[in-house]
Amino acid sequence: MQAEYYDRNRYDIGDDVLERHRSAADRVLSRDQYGHLIDGEWVDAADGEEGVAIDATTGEALATVQIGSAADVDRAVAAARDAFEGSWGQLSPEQRADRLAEIADRLEDRKTEIAKVDSLEAGKPNLHALFVDCEVLIGQFRHFAALARSVDEGRVVPTGDEKHVFTRREPHGVVGAISAWNFPAMFVAWKLGPALAAGNAVVFKPSERATLSSLEVARVCDRVLPPGAVNVVTGLGEDVGAAMTAHEGVDKLSLTGSRAAGVATLESAAETITPTSLELGGKSPNIVFPDADLERAIEGTVVSIFFNSGQQCTAGSRLYLHEDVREEFLKRLEEAIDGLSVGDPLGPTTDIGPMIDHAHAATVRDYVETAVVEGATPVIGGESDAVGDDLQGAPFVQPTVLTDVDDEATVGCEEVFGPVLSVFEWSDREDVLRRANDTSYGLAAGVWTEDLRTAHEFAAKLEAGTVWINTYNDLFDPAPHGGYKESGTGRELAQEALDDYSQVKTVKVNLGGVPKMG
Ligand code: NAD
Repeated sequence: MQAEYYDRNRYDIGDDVLERHRSAADRVLSRDQYGHLIDGEWVDAADGEEGVAIDATTGEALATVQIGSAADVDRAVAAARDAFEGSWGQLSPEQRADRLAEIADRLEDRKTEIAKVDSLEAGKPNLHALFVDCEVLIGQFRHFAALARSVDEGRVVPTGDEKHVFTRREPHGVVGAISAWNFPAMFVAWKLGPALAAGNAVVFKPSERATLSSLEVARVCDRVLPPGAVNVVTGLGEDVGAAMTAHEGVDKLSLTGSRAAGVATLESAAETITPTSLELGGKSPNIVFPDADLERAIEGTVVSIFFNSGQQCTAGSRLYLHEDVREEFLKRLEEAIDGLSVGDPLGPTTDIGPMIDHAHAATVRDYVETAVVEGATPVIGGESDAVGDDLQGAPFVQPTVLTDVDDEATVGCEEVFGPVLSVFEWSDREDVLRRANDTSYGLAAGVWTEDLRTAHEFAAKLEAGTVWINTYNDLFDPAPHGGYKESGTGRELAQEALDDYSQVKTVKVNLGGVPKMG
């Protein structure tokens, strides 16, 4: 088996950093050996295979985790089925709502530790992990606790004869949820919140590149829910993920990840016609009009591409600057980027941490090198010495801004998933709209203008699941999130997610005549 994510050596890191990370790990991890979480118990992998979760900054092992196989997925699906048909499935919507609210309360008490786990394993700047990821994590459980109360409501269909026709919303049964590494704790709520609110039981698979916070959040859920309502199987996509997508006992699939994983999931789900939601990648345009409030637009652009060190599906990685403001915008953007603090994710003021690992950092740097070969100019960044000596061995990539990027250039078309911004110039609004939409992706878009008519026109014409006007990456409101085109199918975060995790049954009650043919 390929277990590269579980088998790395410590990086060349200063003693102070090492000590800070080791002592944080000692304080925040609830265990040093994690099992799968199945039927309310920590259990070892059926075939006994283990690996280690790695600290993204230091390369050191944080804890032992299980490397699962199809046999573990079988056990977890069986436990979820039992919970769905038994103790969990029998709860009323109100009881489910109360449980979800209690999970939110308990997560509130544990959020400092959970945020630190993500800072260690995923290299997330702790300020963001705590005040963004964990706020959304808890907020989503609260939101779906509120929605759970009315989830079973259907509608009455007027018929005009002696019939009473109505619909019911019912859970699918067992949900198989597969997640990515860039917001590990937060994504647990994105999937568990609506899936549980709708009454499903869940088998969750975190990314092999960031596993521990999902297990910590699931452990909190498990203490509140009947055993088996939430199960976590850890391991590789090609083993655990593939076993989940092919499993006949899984009634609904949801995957957050790359296009390749999305295609594999759809192909596998086709065999059993399992309904599937996909949250995939993006190459989102961010368009600045000449009348934009430049201060807001520059701050928003920094957030759009450098938040989470650029490792975001919604990254505004294609910046379209109107020719009248391009020069001033770039000068002020450079000043704003100079003010960003790149360094240890545990640092109290760090804005940008390391990439998830060296393999990913190398991929991101390759994109920059290819961009230069293809004619781009790195006006900011482009070098690897983003940090001081004590962090030289960590997988950092300096925030990078590229101009002279051709519309067809690799860096302008493919998802980089790092802190790399491609800048394009525009002068004609029809042309910029066409260029913005000229991508196979359609996850998000940004528009910066003070003109209402322009804002609404572009909101309507941009081919994206979310269009942000004079803001970016604003995920706090419970509004649906998801992709157009190859960015995915289905929606998360709102009533639409609840609809995705439930199915509609029509009930027709004959109150009068004898049923007839024709
Ligand atoms: P990835 O596709 O490598 O992995 C995602 C998950 O899918 C992991 O748990 C992995 O183990 C699993 N997986 C991989 N191959 C599989 C297979 N054949 N069958 C079943 N499961 C499989 O993606 P990643 O590197 O973890 O995440 C980055 C990608 O995710 C980017 O493309 C990013 O844009 C996307 N993403 C999208 C959203 C969104 O909301 N649209 C959010 C975050 C990340």
